Amino acid sequence: MEKLSLQYSTKNIPIPTNSEYTKKLIDKVEDFIKRLRWRVFFFLKPATTDHTKETYGFKSPKSPPFIPQLKGFEEDMLRLIEDLKFCKINSRTQNKLNTDLKKIQNETNILVPADKTNNYYSVPIQQYKKLMQDNVTTTYKRSDEQMERANNLKAKEITDELDLSDRIQALAPKPAYVTLKDHKENFRNHPTCRLINPTKSDIGIISKKILDRINKNILQATLVNQWKNSTAVIDWFKNIQPRRSTTFITFDVVNFYPTINKRLLHKAIEFAKKHTTITPLETEIIFHAKSTLLFHNDTPWQKTNADDLFDVTMGSYDGAETCELVGTYILNEIRDIIPKENIGLYRDDGLAFINKPAREAETIKKQLCEKFRQLGLQITADANVKTVNFLDVTFDLNKREYRPYSKPGNKHLYVHTGSNHPSVITNRIPQSIQTRLSNISSNEDVFSDAKDDYEKALQEAGHINTTLTYSPSNNNNNRRQQQRKRKITWFNPPYSQHVKANIGKKFLALIDKNFPKENELHKICNRNTLKISYSCMSNMETIIKAHNNKILNNDTGRTPETCNCRRKEDCPLPERCTAKNVVYEAKVHTQSEEKIYIGLTATSFKTRYTSHKASFTHRAKSNQTELSKYIWKLKDDGSPYTLTWRIKKQAQPYSPQSKRCNLCLWEKYFIITADKNTSLNSRTELISTCRHKMKYFLSEYG
Ligand SMILES: [Zn+2]
Ligand SMILES: [Zn+2]
Repeated sequence: MEKLSLQYSTKNIPIPTNSEYTKKLIDKVEDFIKRLRWRVFFFLKPATTDHTKETYGFKSPKSPPFIPQLKGFEEDMLRLIEDLKFCKINSRTQNKLNTDLKKIQNETNILVPADKTNNYYSVPIQQYKKLMQDNVTTTYKRSDEQMERANNLKAKEITDELDLSDRIQALAPKPAYVTLKDHKENFRNHPTCRLINPTKSDIGIISKKILDRINKNILQATLVNQWKNSTAVIDWFKNIQPRRSTTFITFDVVNFYPTINKRLLHKAIEFAKKHTTITPLETEIIFHAKSTLLFHNDTPWQKTNADDLFDVTMGSYDGAETCELVGTYILNEIRDIIPKENIGLYRDDGLAFINKPAREAETIKKQLCEKFRQLGLQITADANVKTVNFLDVTFDLNKREYRPYSKPGNKHLYVHTGSNHPSVITNRIPQSIQTRLSNISSNEDVFSDAKDDYEKALQEAGHINTTLTYSPSNNNNNRRQQQRKRKITWFNPPYSQHVKANIGKKFLALIDKNFPKENELHKICNRNTLKISYSCMSNMETIIKAHNNKILNNDTGRTPETCNCRRKEDCPLPERCTAKNVVYEAKVHTQSEEKIYIGLTATSFKTRYTSHKASFTHRAKSNQTELSKYIWKLKDDGSPYTLTWRIKKQAQPYSPQSKRCNLCLWEKYFIITADKNTSLNSRTELISTCRHKMKYFLSEYG
């Protein structure tokens, strides 16, 4: 197990390859055009609007209709992709990232991240598999396909009731992984891990919305301190009028998420019902969102200590909100021990103050532990303390001050100015750190004592000569001002330094050009309603994750391929005709010209080829593809031709894990980058819905 210490933030983004960038841009342009088409569609035919249904943000899988009024604009948008030009970036940061990237690509081991630091450990695959097996089997037992099926059928039932089963997918199994607790003693000889289950139900997105509403209502009704950030804790601390006897009690709920069980959540919901309405369906949704399996070695696993799949996981969409609901219930339950004004919770961390002598404080601490035990939870607590570290702040009752706190050994790392981020993002970092530090410092002296480490970290991240000055902002809680809601359709092209053109500027110019004042769509298509916000390419962390998946699944993107033709001399693709998941090219030669057609298939090439061949011999099928149309034209003209086939790329079709279809994207990539004079493909194919996605929706499950 070798330590790989990256001395920079893994949020840094390297320069992608040209094709990677282009594919992502195609994806984003397509996504934007689809949303724009829907918007224009409902604008032109307001009577057909179907906005009454609550969709919880799940997009319609239906393809929007072609809208003639958008044709010119769409063509201009596609030209944006065709005209892409790239340059070489030669910066120290990018060269370093590039060197590390090559190292990662050549690595045959798994790169396991540390739990709390920026370290990675290179672990041989066999050792990693053993670590995984040990960690999974301590808290999970083998489940089965029946369990998984029943779970999906239940999800289908719920989404059918919401009329959303054609938008929400079945549970997508994602293999569990571990991170290493490298701060623990004896780590080298006995590595301990944190097991992470990335599989999460999409129903959690709905549950999150429901819980948000419930939590808001019960917080308003109970007025307990359910803190959302350290600023809220500071406001609470400022109101304490400490006496000589005032001390803190701090506590921490041990394994809060995993120990929340069905009974506790039930109690919390019953409690919430006293303050807000919760329908039976909503309750069902909240519980179903907790119904999760863990996937390891291609098999489903479930918690050892339960008969059902109830499990509140760290990564689930509604984990934090579930915690908050349970937390509010707990705070309400312990108000007899400590008045609600004097105590608060942030997820699994609690803090209270009391004005009692030391012995009584100990008694209160014990009562607290006992109360949590009755609720099925365990806490570790400290009483009679004058100074505590809570979140990223140290609270000091003696000095009546608060100051920034960071865990010992924790190194601040910020995104480097040379990272492949839009500069507005990197430029904002020093300012936001200054505001943050100022707000968690009770005065300028405290701020000045703390700032050196942060300044140094900023300088290491390329923000040279940055000095931080104390500047607390007032009412930072209500920064979000009421704004008139205008409906905006966002275009999110990926950002990359090595793209020569300014995509944002070009985009705005296209809006002005295509939708001038007199245009009938100007009202909904102008610079105020169509806006640009850059997205980012993969950062180092994502790239390392992808590397690990590739090694673990032995996934080279290739399926076994041979030739099964009876007469080898007739094989269209010698030795490769059975290849699956391919983008292929058909080249037609005539005496006067050469034409190229790009196609894709998720089945074997041979099957697709057979159907192409049929379309060349049966006139009834002549309109099947642009290729068959062309071949029939040649036939009718009596022009002789030769046809050759070639595989351009093998790529994975849509998977609910990756949520993207590389096969469709590669096809579009080859079509759009092809020479227009020889290409047979029609441009309208570029805005089309991926047909490999449909089968994963719950509506198709059964
Ligand atoms: Zn063959
Ligand atoms: Zn597809």
